[in-house]
Amino acid sequence: PGGFALTAPLHGSDSVSLETSARPDGAGGWVLNGAKKWIGNGAAGGITIVWARDTEDGQVKGFVVEQSTPGYEAEVITGKGALRAIHQAEITLTDVRVGDDARLPGVARFKDAARVLVATRVNVGWSALGHATAMFEAALAYARQREQFGKPLGAHQMVQERLAQMLDEVTAMQTRCVAVARLQAAGRLRDEQASLLKYACTRGARRVAQIARDMLGGNGILLEHRVMRHFADVEALHTYEGTESVQALILGRDLTGMSAFA
Ligand SMILES: Cc1cc2nc3c(=O)[nH]c(=O)nc-3n(C[C@H](O)[C@H](O)[C@H](O)COP(=O)(O)OP(=O)(O)OC[C@H]3O[C@@H](n4cnc5c(N)ncnc54)[C@H](O)[C@@H]3O)c2cc1C
Repeated sequence: PGGFALTAPLHGSDSVSLETSARPDGAGGWVLNGAKKWIGNGAAGGITIVWARDTEDGQVKGFVVEQSTPGYEAEVITGKGALRAIHQAEITLTDVRVGDDARLPGVARFKDAARVLVATRVNVGWSALGHATAMFEAALAYARQREQFGKPLGAHQMVQERLAQMLDEVTAMQTRCVAVARLQAAGRLRDEQASLLKYACTRGARRVAQIARDMLGGNGILLEHRVMRHFADVEALHTYEGTESVQALILGRDLTGMSAFA
């Protein structure tokens, strides 16, 4: 298992300000120091790609670090209400020594690290679609079998309206995901299009989550009815790989030619 360690405890959305340092050790290797937070699989015993700033040229570089390397300490983050199927870790790096062969080739600056986020943002779009579909299907099944006022929920006009809203959201997300997959396959996907997919799909999944959770009434908050689990996971998706606001800033910069990040 592998981790991707970009986020720092004090730098999330402004990950470009990362403080983890990579110092040449004078013998062809590197010494890494710093801290990371929220790193999926960061304590799994495998490898972690650590993004660190080269103390010589000030640029961000990527290093493959074995999690068993002396100085690599990882603590699993507990108490999470979302994405409980995978752990995230808080990591400290204290004089972690790696050889030059641990440095990722083709990475010379932060922009190269950010290239990875384009692919992962597309993945988040598809994940949001998966969660939304599952919640829609659960709500539809519930509406068919649960009876109130002498007939199934699904036979009430307002419930049908809400089913139609969810169908609309899910179909819109499907259409966007397929369009982006076609652009990807043709090698024509722009970074901003990946951001727009993530922005639209996690927002759409959140709207589906609200409707589906409500449609199940009190049972909607019970984990056994599934919707609540997806609801919680969608909240995590909405935040990682760049929050909704960060995607909006990327889109706004592209639309106006002006950066409003800082
Ligand atoms: C479950 C989970 C898994 C994760 N996995 C990984 C991982 O494997 N590897 C990794 O490197 N990171 C990972 N992350 C970290 C994730 O990428 C960050 O949480 C995310 O980038 C947001 O950073 P933050 O939590 O520090 O929030 P902050 O940056 O503190 O943001 C807090 C709020 O302020 C808003 N905000 C921030 N800046 C601005 C601005 N300029 N204008 C307007 N609003 C702004 C944000 O949108 C957000 O709503 C994970 C996070 C979670 C929750």
